[in-house]
Amino acid sequence: MSIVELARREIRSLRAYKAAEQVDDTIRLNANESPMIGANDHFRRSLNRYPEVRPRRLQHLLAARFRCTPAQLLVTRGSSEAIDLLVRTFCRAGKDSVLTTSPSFSMYRHYAEVQGAKTIEVATMAADDFAVDIDAILAACEDSTRLIFVCSPNNPTGTRLSRIQLEQLLHGRGDRSAVVIDEAYVEFGDDPSVIELLDRYPNLLVLRTLSKALGFAGARCGAVVGLGSVIRMLNAVQAPYALATPVVECVEDALQDEQLAFAERTIARIIEERERLVGVIGAFNFVRKVWPSHANFFLIEVDDAEKVMRRCEDHHVLLRHFGGELAGCIRISVGSPDENDQLLRVLETLEES
Ligand code: PMP
Repeated sequence: MSIVELARREIRSLRAYKAAEQVDDTIRLNANESPMIGANDHFRRSLNRYPEVRPRRLQHLLAARFRCTPAQLLVTRGSSEAIDLLVRTFCRAGKDSVLTTSPSFSMYRHYAEVQGAKTIEVATMAADDFAVDIDAILAACEDSTRLIFVCSPNNPTGTRLSRIQLEQLLHGRGDRSAVVIDEAYVEFGDDPSVIELLDRYPNLLVLRTLSKALGFAGARCGAVVGLGSVIRMLNAVQAPYALATPVVECVEDALQDEQLAFAERTIARIIEERERLVGVIGAFNFVRKVWPSHANFFLIEVDDAEKVMRRCEDHHVLLRHFGGELAGCIRISVGSPDENDQLLRVLETLEES
């Protein structure tokens, strides 16, 4: 068996939408497009024409960057869309479940709710820097658990999943669940992407995004990487022409060597700034704890989170405060050196009062 068998029956037999043919050097009277190029058309490819149903060149560029084959990768509108596609492909409403760790990125639960799938939440080990508890995950899985989402490095705690833990999880579930590793922040840590494990684990799926390290959140581009037969199903579920022409052009440019070298320097600077902030903020007397982070943000625990949030807001600095199990904790995204200096100046005022 393979995880393909876990997908909804109707999706397994679904064919991808058949779009009007697009052939170079032909007169295209087959797609009800306008023959006229708009007055302010300043893109390389004319916007009176539909984009490719799937952006082939971009798919190849991303596959080269993420070290997989093009057949193992689907380009998505941010990794958010990949989460949605996975849940819709694998989960039957009212029957199947998704397992997530807690605290983690809320979008997994959100899309499960949209689909009418149950969410099983497994607490991470707060006393151990929110480490993922693999035994607890395996114990909490039900027969209906189609997808297990683990974010590494995790949003909002910055915690990473070790390779040994991941392999335990992949072995533990075998072909009974797909294990989805969300690597939105992987470029900010020391660990290599787990995409290199794909050939050994057909139940592994990996989410990547261009929104974080590459700095293209506004372009809405990400990818899901995994077994070719799973990617084909996700491809059939995704809307045709999902990636707009200007987005494809912009992201293709971002993947040229010069742009990537710029992104690498930015990543190095963000990591440097993260370590600077962690050092300075960790020494403030109202800060109880700073968790180690492998991402472009870090989590702190303070004496009075509401007061810190209010003071920062009064000075036009926005941070993220979560309630529940993270009451008292604040997530700080690493900004530019100037922005970080401003944040430190505001926090210093709390130190004095
Ligand atoms: N995964 C994680 C862990 C995230 O934090 C985010 C965005 N905050 C996403 C996925 C979605 O990112 P995008 O849709 O921009 O790729």
